[in-house]
Amino acid sequence: MSDRPDLPADTPTDLWIDGHALPSVSGARFDVADPATGGVLTSVADAGVADASKALDSAVAAQSRWAATPPRRRSEILYRAWELVVEHTDELALLMTLEMGKPLAEARGEVAYGGEFLRWFAEEAVRIGGRTTTAPSGNGRILVTKEPVGPCLAVTPWNFPLAMGTRKIGPALAAGCTVIVKPAEDTPLTMLLLARLFRDAGLPDGVLSVLPTLDSAGVIGALMADSRLAKISFTGSTQVGRILLGQAAHHVMKASMELGGNAPFIVFDDADIDAAVEGALAAKMRNGGQACTAANRFLVHNAVRERFTAALADRMDALRVGAGREDGTEVGPLINERQRSRIAALVDDAVASGAVVRTGGKAIAGDGWFYAPTVLDHLPTDSDILAEEIFGPVAVITGFDTEDEAVAAANDTPYGLAAYFYTRDLDRTLRVSAALNAGMVGVNRGIISDPAAPFGGVKESGLGSEGGSEGIAEYLTTKYIALTA
Ligand code: NAP
Repeated sequence: MSDRPDLPADTPTDLWIDGHALPSVSGARFDVADPATGGVLTSVADAGVADASKALDSAVAAQSRWAATPPRRRSEILYRAWELVVEHTDELALLMTLEMGKPLAEARGEVAYGGEFLRWFAEEAVRIGGRTTTAPSGNGRILVTKEPVGPCLAVTPWNFPLAMGTRKIGPALAAGCTVIVKPAEDTPLTMLLLARLFRDAGLPDGVLSVLPTLDSAGVIGALMADSRLAKISFTGSTQVGRILLGQAAHHVMKASMELGGNAPFIVFDDADIDAAVEGALAAKMRNGGQACTAANRFLVHNAVRERFTAALADRMDALRVGAGREDGTEVGPLINERQRSRIAALVDDAVASGAVVRTGGKAIAGDGWFYAPTVLDHLPTDSDILAEEIFGPVAVITGFDTEDEAVAAANDTPYGLAAYFYTRDLDRTLRVSAALNAGMVGVNRGIISDPAAPFGGVKESGLGSEGGSEGIAEYLTTKYIALTA
């Protein structure tokens, strides 16, 4: 099979192990699809357990030298990698658009956002502190140092093929850890190109490996069972996160989990409604709704509900849906047919139980996995679509009358990743921010991700933070050294 003609000729499609592009030990490969057509883009090497073992051997062999590399040098490599990512914006964005479907403009935005984690952590690499105090008893000194945890496994999802990787690779390398990345099977190409850019930035062999595989459970299971692996950092569904936490328990391995969400988006009656509609569009439609931070449930005060709903439906209806590589596309396809069928079933079920379709409500016929931007109103409170992470271009709206009612509904979920609300009342801002049981709260804004801020969830949305000065702590252990003098 020959590659699609619009795929750049030098697109990497082999495994990346110990600084080299390699076929898998078994010689197996698997196809990568274009969600905008349903056709095959290319094929990549399919890692098995033997390849995972080679990658771990190289990560373990490189670990002590990388940990001993001066922080300034680690910082310079990360900084150079950031420069290379920016220089290769067009190439990275095109790969993301082709393998994942997002519009080119959004893909370029992800290159800027994802690359920034490398620059941010280049700056953090030289600021790893420790502390020293005299013991209160006067009996010697307490010296506290920070050390890299050791070889790490980073498992990433398909929705942000670059940023979900750099958010883990950046802090791990800054801390002095080696990393094996297991990208999602739907989107391996972007991460393979990133590995090559890291080589060009001067990263020593063995410090970063990338293992695309169709056998996620087998490959990851084998790595997790090896006591030489020191840490797992996972971004993906809560369901898979639970499995990996169970595996981590065996060696009591350090684990960071960025899991699913069910973000509420509350519009109070004192909100600037025009601004709330713009914010809603951003919070819902970034990445076509395929974001863990996506607004999942719109809770709108009944006094402004019809105005908000009508305006949001108009804006959603006007969005241009199409292949991400076409000029002017605002919403790309869903990642695969399975996701589209899942979303269609959720919408159909809601409509069968009484929800009103204000716009959309159906899959778009033809090639590719497109679904129309949809607004549903008048949902029964027990609708499955209110309880599940939709992960698609569907906004569901319910009403409320009091602040307490809105906060209680917002918190009525096992998830706690992002939450949003719109109000012009400062007292309410502080009260509701405190009352929302979420790791991140957006006030009068629909986009909250920032490499300089700690990203993470509570409850079943995860453990730990990525980004900010908190992000590097996930890759460091604390050592206490007792001194007599
Ligand atoms: P997923 O099915 O959990 O997959 C995530 C990763 O885990 C992929 O690399 C996947 O590989 C791998 N995986 C799947 N089954 C596995 C198993 N049994 N053992 C080991 N690894 C396994 O999630 P997804 O569908 O890719 O992504 C969507 C989910 O990610 C949503 O729930 C979303 O909220 C969450 N997410 C969270 C954040 C956050 O920061 N909190 C950010 C983005 C996405 P394969 O692709 O090869 O199956």
